[in-house]
Amino acid sequence: MQLIRGALDSTRDFLMSDFSEIKKAKALREITRSRSRLFVCVFTLPVYILALWALLNNGRDIIGFMFFYMCLYAIFAINMASKRCPDCGKQFFVKVFLLNVITKNCVHCSLPYD
Ligand SMILES: [Zn+2]
Repeated sequence: MQLIRGALDSTRDFLMSDFSEIKKAKALREITRSRSRLFVCVFTLPVYILALWALLNNGRDIIGFMFFYMCLYAIFAINMASKRCPDCGKQFFVKVFLLNVITKNCVHCSLPYD
């Protein structure tokens, strides 16, 4: 009986550690995606500026276009800032107040995400 209980406990511990590793990998993948989304916005900034230039040259209204782009940027930035480190539980990219977009590690415990 003691042997069976020990085997069950070790199996449960193995499964739980495997489950937590899967959960951690999933969280790190989400962190990578949130950073990629924000970078898409940053890298499309020249396209945005050219589109604004074209709209202004044609005498069209730019308020809706600007509002859409700024909202998209804000949503992606808030999403990135809200990501939590799976190890320490603190914000992955925010140490004090500002969003650190160039780091590849947690700003608190240095856990790498790739
Ligand atoms: Zn951390």
